[in-house]
Amino acid sequence: MIEAGKTLANHTKKPSLTPKAIIHQKFGDKACYKVEEVQDDSNQNGCPGLAIPQKGPSLYRCTLELPETTVVSDACRRKKDAEQSAAEKAIEKLGIQLKEYNPTKEEAWNDLAGRISFLFSNEFLPSLNPLSAHFRAALRREGHFKGCVPLSVLAIYDGKVSNICKYIDPMAESNSLLVMSLVLRAAAKLTDSVVISDKQLQRRNEYPLEILSSTNNESNLSESISIDVVIIPASLEKAVESVKLNFTAAGYYLDVIARELGMNEASDVIISRTIGKASSEMRIYSAAPKQLLCDQFEGTLNIRASYFAGQEIHGDGILASVGYTWRSTDIFHEAVSLRSYYRMLVNKIPGGAYKISRDAILAANLPSAFTMKSNWRGSFPRDILSTFCRFHYLSEPVFSTQSNSSEASLDLPGSRKKLKVTQSNKEEKTEAFCCEVKIYSKNQELIVQCSPQETHRKQTDAVQIAALKVLSWLNLFFENPNISSEKLNLLAENLDIHFTPRYFFKEFALCHSMHNNKAAENEPSLIDITGENSGATPSNGSLVCISYSVSLFREEDSIKDHLKSCEEFEFEIGNEAVLPYIESAVAQMAIGQSAYFQVDLPSDEFILATAVDSASALSLLSSKRCKMEYNITLLQVTEPLEERMEQAQFSPPLSKQRVEFAVQQIKESSAASLVDFGCGSGSLLDSLLSYPTSLEKIVGVDISLRALTKAAKLLHTKLNKLSESSSKIKYAVLYDGSITKFDSQLHGFDIATCLEVIEHMEEEEASLFGEVVLSCFRPKILIVSTPNYEYNVILQGCTTEDPDEKNQTQVCKFRNHDHKFEWTRAQFESWAADLAATHNYGLDFSGVGGAADVEPGFASQIAIFRRREDNFTNVESDNHYVPIWEWNRENIPPKEQ
Ligand code: SAH
Ligand code: MG
Repeated sequence: MIEAGKTLANHTKKPSLTPKAIIHQKFGDKACYKVEEVQDDSNQNGCPGLAIPQKGPSLYRCTLELPETTVVSDACRRKKDAEQSAAEKAIEKLGIQLKEYNPTKEEAWNDLAGRISFLFSNEFLPSLNPLSAHFRAALRREGHFKGCVPLSVLAIYDGKVSNICKYIDPMAESNSLLVMSLVLRAAAKLTDSVVISDKQLQRRNEYPLEILSSTNNESNLSESISIDVVIIPASLEKAVESVKLNFTAAGYYLDVIARELGMNEASDVIISRTIGKASSEMRIYSAAPKQLLCDQFEGTLNIRASYFAGQEIHGDGILASVGYTWRSTDIFHEAVSLRSYYRMLVNKIPGGAYKISRDAILAANLPSAFTMKSNWRGSFPRDILSTFCRFHYLSEPVFSTQSNSSEASLDLPGSRKKLKVTQSNKEEKTEAFCCEVKIYSKNQELIVQCSPQETHRKQTDAVQIAALKVLSWLNLFFENPNISSEKLNLLAENLDIHFTPRYFFKEFALCHSMHNNKAAENEPSLIDITGENSGATPSNGSLVCISYSVSLFREEDSIKDHLKSCEEFEFEIGNEAVLPYIESAVAQMAIGQSAYFQVDLPSDEFILATAVDSASALSLLSSKRCKMEYNITLLQVTEPLEERMEQAQFSPPLSKQRVEFAVQQIKESSAASLVDFGCGSGSLLDSLLSYPTSLEKIVGVDISLRALTKAAKLLHTKLNKLSESSSKIKYAVLYDGSITKFDSQLHGFDIATCLEVIEHMEEEEASLFGEVVLSCFRPKILIVSTPNYEYNVILQGCTTEDPDEKNQTQVCKFRNHDHKFEWTRAQFESWAADLAATHNYGLDFSGVGGAADVEPGFASQIAIFRRREDNFTNVESDNHYVPIWEWNRENIPPKEQ
């Protein structure tokens, strides 16, 4: 046990700031202290099995987590000493200068020599830190190399050394070879205390015996250790493979690694920075150049290892997680499997990081939109972007949000009362945020910038949406790094992104050899759906829960290798949160049904990142005719908020009331033809068929092919069942097309409906639709429904604290995240009245849910336009719509009727 007082005592002569205060200055609340009580081993009397342990004085150990590292304090008698001790260790580890350190070159040279001389002093050897553990291990090396500490170790494991070197040569910051050569030159002056032999340093005189004996308490030195490491050959032709290294704790592990690389001993090896997580010990080991200064490597550039480590690595590399840490005196080691190598590789792709955060590499996909925070599953875009930057050794992304509130409050007079209103109500509720994000290289070159113009009601949404745009764009590049610059540019523009090609391609130069999207066309074979159709199917915006399993399948001998399965996996339908073929399967399923299909293989890295048994997956992958096989069961569907509210709070549900409203209008007008603009999955058309009406021809138009496919299935079944006696319907058709465009085939219909559609378009588009439908389509009757925003207070149960506040509804959210707007009664009425007046239509207002004369009016507000004159003007033929399904009573074979 080390007395806390001793280490802290050193501090009294340093500046008045405590270590904790210094850490706070640097890291603020990113520094996380955790104190735990520890058993004082010296009081255990050798009886670890005692039921009631002998209670010595309580001791505390503190773990300090910082963005770049984690340290553990000595055991201390007081909690606050433990915290100070941890902070002190962190300061030492990170090489933070306590005083303003700004030496001249000459001073830096002296300091470097001083530091090296300290490292070889009696004082340093017994201290608890990763570098002194190397010194102790070096003393256990055999023969000629006894006590020799490789320069690479001094360059990598001592924060102070690398910090001082920066002042001698700024390039040293990112170049450990340069640090090594500077150390060598500084050590050359220390002829009294240090001996240089090739690429290592050795103490001139032996350590005094009492120092040596005080360091001899490391446990389990006789233990032999076997660790899994991954070999990354320099030649891209050779496969990355897993091997075991064996060493004893008594030997020096770097010697073992050197031999595996075909070298003689530890100093022939250079060590990369750490890879992956903040507290990781994972590094890549590779051959050092023969001559440090001339920087000439024997081997070729190892592309895979360099991409991985974000620095140049030459020759074969060994990826291993082994070394001495701040946490214990024993050697730390962890297996690095082939699977973890591939997982880290996948993690460097934005979409891959998302897949990994969902633990669904072969199912999840980076969603294309951030709809609602509550529907998002997996890491949030902002966090993924930070991880991405960390994995690629870039600076943290910089977000800057702006709110319109300052402008909004400008035109308000400064009286006290009004000011209060501004702050407590208006400002909060009408505030809109937009967010810009920038990504810089480590050298502060601006690589990518995304500045969306859209505003959002919540600051976090604005941040997430900006982050997602950048991620989506980066993802497109990573999935296909050979994409042309023009295409990349175009994609960037669509996402409000600007990038600096020079810096962008410099940072990601190696991606070309690392990632290539394999099967561009990953269309599944037939999707085979089994099980009873319960009718409960998902629609866009639904949250669904599935179980799935994925296997590799070799066609020639039907050998299968199970890759992964998942009992419960949730995602939102409609924004590509899963691989396209999964989404299209699930969209066709009802709760309780299962789907089975095969697809072409994705890139090997995804498969190997999933496979527990890499060897058998590899052997299957090497054969040509291999497929991936999916089994999916739809467990649960949670409808979008809007539908849930409409069903829970109205009886009959609002959607049914809208249908009944339309049926009433059809009956009153004896309409024979109907077109449903924005028919979606056909809920209105399908329901209409359950009522006896005068309709002979029904048409649906929508831009969503997925919705239309569903509508086609529904209508097909229903129409074929309808007997001629119960229905006059002769013809039905569904068109793929935008209702803002005119198609002459739908001119002059008896009735047109457009229910709950306009709010899904931008306001300008909604106006355009109004113009086009009344001036070109000119139906006799047009029924338009849209949510009444004022009614949301009731739907969402939201009220304001201030009863005087007139604009109560401002606190409410829209009913559905896909809504671009929701209008108050006044807004809707003015839209409709202008249109009706311009195009010579009469106008009535109505609605469903609630009542016209009870505040706040109907839940769904409805406008009914009636054409004033009969017009038989011939219109020019103008076809924009594509029929995707058609039904004709004449064509139905008799047996089906
Ligand atoms: N009328 C249906 C669906 C409402 S959801 C019902 O009441 O259940 C809104 C629908 O409008 C979606 O299916 C969407 O695809 C469609 N839509 C949005 N913009 C459109 C456009 N410009 N042209 C055609 N359909 C559109
Ligand atoms: Mg809607």
